Amino acid sequence: MMKLNQISNLSKIIDECVHCGLCLSSCPTYLTSGLEAKSPRGRLLIMNQIQENPEVLDKEMLQHLNTCLDCRGCETVCPSGVEYHLAFQETTNIINKNQTLPFLSTFILSEIKNKKILPLIKWVVWISKKLRILSLLSKLGINTAIQGNSIPVNKIEDLLKIKSGIHKTNQISKGLIGLYTGCIMNEWFIKVHKSTINVLNTLGYNVFIPENNICCGALHQHSGDSGTAFQLKSESENIFKNCDFVVVNSAGCSAELKSNNTKIKYLDIIEFLNSVEIKMKNSWNKNIIWDAPCHLSHAQQLATTTTELFNKLKIEPISWSGQEICCGGAGNYTLIHPQESEEILKLKYNQLLKYEINYLVTSNPGCHLQLEKGRQLYNRNFQIIHFVELIEMIL
Ligand code: SF4
Ligand code: SF4
Repeated sequence: MMKLNQISNLSKIIDECVHCGLCLSSCPTYLTSGLEAKSPRGRLLIMNQIQENPEVLDKEMLQHLNTCLDCRGCETVCPSGVEYHLAFQETTNIINKNQTLPFLSTFILSEIKNKKILPLIKWVVWISKKLRILSLLSKLGINTAIQGNSIPVNKIEDLLKIKSGIHKTNQISKGLIGLYTGCIMNEWFIKVHKSTINVLNTLGYNVFIPENNICCGALHQHSGDSGTAFQLKSESENIFKNCDFVVVNSAGCSAELKSNNTKIKYLDIIEFLNSVEIKMKNSWNKNIIWDAPCHLSHAQQLATTTTELFNKLKIEPISWSGQEICCGGAGNYTLIHPQESEEILKLKYNQLLKYEINYLVTSNPGCHLQLEKGRQLYNRNFQIIHFVELIEMIL
């Protein structure tokens, strides 16, 4: 049963919706399904029904709620300032108190917390890539193989953990930055961490790398397990107590880490790069598309910061419609809702395929994997890189 204060909070948020429908065209699940129940406005109505009488919750309502990506695209365009994600979070917490999560979700969340399966997967992927098994199975259209093939572990260096401790700049140090290594980033995106250290060192900062894997708890939070999310966030706090601030190169993690009151100052890498002087050695003459992660543009409202950063770097990414729509990656969404995820990916690629580009740039591991999956499915030969890899090329 719902507690009274939960009901009043939820009802306050829901009441702010004036049903104008301005959010519909920003909602990927509405765009792909055409169903009002799969729109922000429709979902708020379902939440309202549940708060009035929790017993009305049935399989269909649950499915409409569960297929929300929590991308927060609806919040950016909402003129009434409806904090959709808070209503969604409260409703998910309440539903999960009365129901157990599906087996696959529980398994993924527990493995992320226990940190055992991610290292194993990267080795299996690397060996299968070396033996060309993954590319063969991917060409046959086998979904798991395409997903595995999207994990960017291609060279042996991509598998080897970065030395913990302080990586020193060879200039007079401007300060000590902690790098939030994370769970997926720290296993599957080691090359991005290496580029981040390199960029930060070149800009004159020492970089602290923690010894153990850390996790921000974003996936747990989105699945309604706020307790574990809070525990994971608290565990990692102590680790960075000697740093001036902590830089996060995954937009999903930076959004999550900033969502709690904390003694640590967390900065998304985009925010940090925009705040410092960058002297470029090389100019940029390749065609790129920037695909802003939802957790950067919508959850952290850093779209303008990114534009300022591109201007500062004198790089002009191709302007395209579709960049503000989620790619369908959304943490473990692609595994839990494969069909919806692929329909949303198609929506994005319908726009992307209109352009000839050299690089597609992102700054979130979930988006990177999903966009790479699309690149393989649509047989394109551009490269997908993280924003720091782009900076590394011009520094
Ligand atoms: S834009 Fe905001 S107020 Fe309008 S329907 Fe969507 S959530 Fe409600
Ligand atoms: S969070 Fe994203 S998927 Fe969910 S209702 Fe809002 S726009 Fe739609």
